[in-house]
Amino acid sequence: MGKVGPILSGIAGASTLPGSEGSPSISTAAPPRAPLPDFTPHLPVPSGSVIRRRLRGLPFIIIHISALVGACLVAPTWTAIGIGVALYVVRMFGVTGGYHRYFAHRAYRTSRWFQFVLAWLGCSAMQKGPLWWAVHHRQHHKYSDQEDDPHSPIIRSVWWAHVGWVISGRFRKAPYKLIQDYWKYPELRILNKLHWLPGFALAGLCYWLDGLPGLVWGFLVSTICLYHGTFLVNSACHLWGTRRYATTDQSKNLWWAAILTLGEGWHNNHHHYQSCARQGLRWWEIDMSYYTIRALGLVGLVWDIREPTAKALAKNRIGTSVDAQPA
Ligand SMILES: [Zn+2]
Ligand SMILES: [Zn+2]
Repeated sequence: MGKVGPILSGIAGASTLPGSEGSPSISTAAPPRAPLPDFTPHLPVPSGSVIRRRLRGLPFIIIHISALVGACLVAPTWTAIGIGVALYVVRMFGVTGGYHRYFAHRAYRTSRWFQFVLAWLGCSAMQKGPLWWAVHHRQHHKYSDQEDDPHSPIIRSVWWAHVGWVISGRFRKAPYKLIQDYWKYPELRILNKLHWLPGFALAGLCYWLDGLPGLVWGFLVSTICLYHGTFLVNSACHLWGTRRYATTDQSKNLWWAAILTLGEGWHNNHHHYQSCARQGLRWWEIDMSYYTIRALGLVGLVWDIREPTAKALAKNRIGTSVDAQPA
């Protein structure tokens, strides 16, 4: 285990919540451990020439230009718009319920095959692989709004937190030692490497369903909306909104971001209780990802869903008579 045990215990409540002690996160027997790439757990220094680093951010820019040009040249159809809306919602869950709450925070357990389904769904959002995504998110919680946070708008800028870090080319490698709990599954490592495959397959499916409008409006435009919806959590939710809990960072609860991100906008709640499956902690804090996880639990696809404890809900509250304080 080496240094990994202490590291894991410090991230995202990875081994501290009920149900997680001494047990793997999924039910099947774990395959043998695979060698981990050597990498520092801290923020990577820029490597390679400036041109090379810029080239690494090129796919992200190309997909934006393709969506913009395509939207100007190709008229939408109702079918294409329907596909786009459906793909926004379903893939957003792949990122929020899969990449975030399952892979980064282990907020519930599932079978090995459904774990792969979640990983595939997350990949189709074109936000890199599940291990890459989750391990950088663990870094975010470990160093939140400190120097080694990959995307803090407090330490750097709103631009950096929103898209700058993605296109900077600095985060091509990842500190996979911090995600040994999932690194051990070979199918996840392969998918993590071929992370573009589900997105390309989905683009082909959209074209097959509705031709160019399906590709442009169903896939490309919804993918762009998905990018910026997700990225709001990194940028806006550390800048604007209200704080219910005195966390060590600047995380905020931002209702409109919660709507756009299926519940991730209750970000101060989440930073307070990171490995809880639920982020909207009041009945009026709409959290579609949590409701979906509960629905999946009802049909037996997931289980051991981590709920907030009364003690955790009461701890570190800001004020006593109001739910939230203005930012
Ligand atoms: Zn955050
Ligand atoms: Zn998180």
